[in-house]
Amino acid sequence: MQVDRRPTTSVLPAVAANQLHSFVEVWKMAATKHFPQMVSHVILDLDGTLLNTDGVMNEVLKVFLVKYGKRWDNKISQKIIGRTPLEVATAVVKDFSLSLTTEELMSAISPMFSDQWCNIKALPGANRLIKHLRSNGVTMALASNSSKSCIEAKISFHQGWKESFSVIIGGDEVTTGKPSPEIFLEAAKRMNVDISNCLVIEDSLPGVAAGKAAGMAVVAVPSLPKQAGLYSSADVVINSLLDLHPEKWGLPPFEDWIEGTLPIEPWYIGGPVIKGFGRGSKVLGIPTANLPAENFSTILSEHTSGVYFGWAGLSTRGIYKMVMSIGWNPYFDNTEKTIEPWLLHDFGEDFYGEELRLAIVGYIRPEANFPSLESLIARIHEDGRIAKKALDLPIYAGSKDSPYLKNSMLRSNCHS
Ligand SMILES: [Mg+2]
Repeated sequence: MQVDRRPTTSVLPAVAANQLHSFVEVWKMAATKHFPQMVSHVILDLDGTLLNTDGVMNEVLKVFLVKYGKRWDNKISQKIIGRTPLEVATAVVKDFSLSLTTEELMSAISPMFSDQWCNIKALPGANRLIKHLRSNGVTMALASNSSKSCIEAKISFHQGWKESFSVIIGGDEVTTGKPSPEIFLEAAKRMNVDISNCLVIEDSLPGVAAGKAAGMAVVAVPSLPKQAGLYSSADVVINSLLDLHPEKWGLPPFEDWIEGTLPIEPWYIGGPVIKGFGRGSKVLGIPTANLPAENFSTILSEHTSGVYFGWAGLSTRGIYKMVMSIGWNPYFDNTEKTIEPWLLHDFGEDFYGEELRLAIVGYIRPEANFPSLESLIARIHEDGRIAKKALDLPIYAGSKDSPYLKNSMLRSNCHS
């Protein structure tokens, strides 16, 4: 890459040569991070990267621990991410001082867990990514600390997954699981590709460590966004698979973005409008009509945080364009998300208690930090403009007639 450094040197004549040298070195390092290596093959982790396994594992352990008079602690769910089943069991026995051995715990929860495999959902963007890479002829491997038979059983509930991977490798096929690089090195060997041509996509710290130790490029998709800062060893950290840009790695780009928006499988949520959380959204000129997040913890756990848009039905008023954020509420435990829709219409009054129904049809961007309140407000208004324009596109406009939105009004009319 040609870099013209003349302006830098001419405007900073007092900079000592050694300082300038270190500046250039830092710049080069930053450039390496931003313009990563080109790859041809992709190695995916399964649990927490493609599948929302942790949700099911947490539920199983919660139920099990109640029998022992123990209460589930969310801190343990952070500890178990990316660990082998044996490591999970060891941590649970130790942290809850259970009067049984690790092996006894494993044999007790294994059938409970496998009963739930059919309920493990694909994470946002997982199906899209697999289809995209497969249809573009990109060779993929699946490398998980779970045993191969468990991997195959879990993916059997997801159409087209098994055939999409040329290599599937389980933790029982290597001597040491992640964070050892062994599983990724073995995956590269079986794909017959050089390690420098492999991109690893991982949700856990042990997985990221394993990918880097293998000498591969690594994209981290942390299961707990709050912990994104811990993933500095990854080449890139993204909020969800929806935010992956394969072209940055020399892979074929996604071509489904339309005018700054990504169409998603529509999903629906509704309830009475509640007051916000005292963040002064009206003062910001962004009067959000909040929904009680505690009623929707399951559906919210299935959707990544970020800015979305769609249609909003208010039982006595009509259907309006809407942009909304799903995010982590600092007042709650970090496993709780909030949902804050902004109806893009000037109502001139509050409507707390009124039934609000939402059809969410598209994605705009991940949650982000902003250097100032002004830049945050400007970005939210920009999100609003993007949503308003996009909702006129045929791909999104049809959802305005969704029976889910209309039924709230029919029901309201029947009662009046
Ligand atoms: Mg994982």
